[in-house]
Amino acid sequence: MVERVVAAEGDVLIVVDVQNDFCENGNLAVPRADEVVAVINRLAERFSTVVLTQDWHPPGHLSFASTHSERRAYETITLHYGEQVLWPDHCVQGTPGAEFHKLLQIPHAGLVLRKGMHRTIDSYSAFYENDRRTPTGLLGYLRERGLTRVFLAGLAFDFCVHYSARDARQAGFSTFVIEDACRSIDIGGSVDATRRSLADLHVPCIGTQAFI
Ligand SMILES: [Zn+2]
Repeated sequence: MVERVVAAEGDVLIVVDVQNDFCENGNLAVPRADEVVAVINRLAERFSTVVLTQDWHPPGHLSFASTHSERRAYETITLHYGEQVLWPDHCVQGTPGAEFHKLLQIPHAGLVLRKGMHRTIDSYSAFYENDRRTPTGLLGYLRERGLTRVFLAGLAFDFCVHYSARDARQAGFSTFVIEDACRSIDIGGSVDATRRSLADLHVPCIGTQAFI
């Protein structure tokens, strides 16, 4: 149980996918997603290093249900790299849905990391695409900057935040998920599975109140 956290120089806050399509009226709206925007804006003021991630798919991406005949959104299929949930079309490159929420204001963010650009591989994690082999380059950025602790916030807790936390931890970073700065999709028990997974990985879920 983490009681208190003091933000330090070696910390990075990774703000995951706070984009219009995941927010209210978006194509893949995460329930109550808009609530985290103000929380994350305040949280980011505590960190000198902030990375924003942006889901950034080409049209016809393999994770879109519309790309597959006779498939519906939220079904699971098996692709060349394993299981893949099919999603409504979302965060298509250059569209308004792919833009950050207009109230997200983190001007000191040093990096915008785009992911999911390969048409045939989805990328939940900010570190590796869903084949778990194709790197996004974020690991090199964090290591070269000498950062040691990773804090995660954003959308959605049970997908992109979860897998980003897993990969950060497995790459050797002390990793924390700030749960009240996240919202979940929750399909097929994904929130419970995420909590179990993060506990197994020794990734604490903390609240913003933990910061001194
Ligand atoms: Zn996506």
